Amino acid sequence: MNNCFILLAAGKGKRFNSKEKKQFFIYKNKPLFMHSINKAKKSKLFKKIVLVTNKQLKISNVDIVKGGKERSDSSFNGLKFIANKKIKNVFIHDAARPNFSIKLLKKLKKNLYNNKAVVPYINTHNSTKYAYQNKVINLKRERVYLTQTPQCFDFKTLYNLSKKNKNSVTDECALFLNNNKKIKFIKGEDSNIKITKKIDLYKNKIKTFYGIGFDIHRLVKKKRLYLGGIRIPFHSGLKGHSDGDVIIHCIIDALLGALRKKDIGSLYPSNKNKFKNIRSPKMLKPIIINIESNNYYINNLDINLICERPKVSKYRNKIINSLSRLMNINKDIINIKGKTVEKLGLIGKENAIACEAIVSISKYE
Ligand code: ZN
Repeated sequence: MNNCFILLAAGKGKRFNSKEKKQFFIYKNKPLFMHSINKAKKSKLFKKIVLVTNKQLKISNVDIVKGGKERSDSSFNGLKFIANKKIKNVFIHDAARPNFSIKLLKKLKKNLYNNKAVVPYINTHNSTKYAYQNKVINLKRERVYLTQTPQCFDFKTLYNLSKKNKNSVTDECALFLNNNKKIKFIKGEDSNIKITKKIDLYKNKIKTFYGIGFDIHRLVKKKRLYLGGIRIPFHSGLKGHSDGDVIIHCIIDALLGALRKKDIGSLYPSNKNKFKNIRSPKMLKPIIINIESNNYYINNLDINLICERPKVSKYRNKIINSLSRLMNINKDIINIKGKTVEKLGLIGKENAIACEAIVSISKYE
């Protein structure tokens, strides 16, 4: 698996009309360039992933290389960086195209067995003309190739061409063409659009779902109290098959509700011994993985903790920090309110703690 993925994210984005460069804009809930990094990682095709950028960044298992003046300079910087790293095949991709599929990566790689360069293209649906000298001529649109990235190459061939190249080229495919080298063209993807203008960022439809959760546990002596994944000093703890963490149970139910996947009892039946004394963060984790792998993201989470004591105000920040870590979400989108019950009933007499939560999740289509 001596493949390398080079992601070019050093462009100026002249057509983007913004102070922040487009590759760092938030698109579908993460910086534009991260979509490509995540897909490259997920494909498991690459020994090395290189990000060419002028921004100071640190990303696990990704090498950062400084960009150049033009796209071709940045690409060359990336190639130079891997020159002594025994790479056989190199994929070059523009960060402005976040919507390619892993299937396309695999198709490119498959075609590289018998070729030195594989490039995806699409046809245009527009009638196409070409201005040449003083004339405008008609082109057969099925013969017009709009080339996309990722493109993949035999590393040595591309590196040698890049070393000799003195011109600025808009992609590596042009480099091969300028040197009369053979390229295998394969069908690209219509959805693999290039984000060029700001309006391109907001073309996706969003679907939003809400989920609600409620839970109550009895307080018993000689048990530790866990709320929101942290231990809280108290005279009693919450009784239950697990550690009794009402906040996390509530969140699990709210998330399952939003995902339309039944409830916590169906997922963790209390008659199953393997879940006995299970810590609640462990129960939450697979649901967070499910959310992320299905491209949902959490918009906000609001919690009511219903108890006479402990005082929520004292632990609010700690609980929010813990939930932010466990759920892999920003602290700003979590809220906890404390609610007492005028000393009424089980809760009022500090014999139980209840909790309710509401969550909203979204997905781009
Ligand atoms: Zn519970």
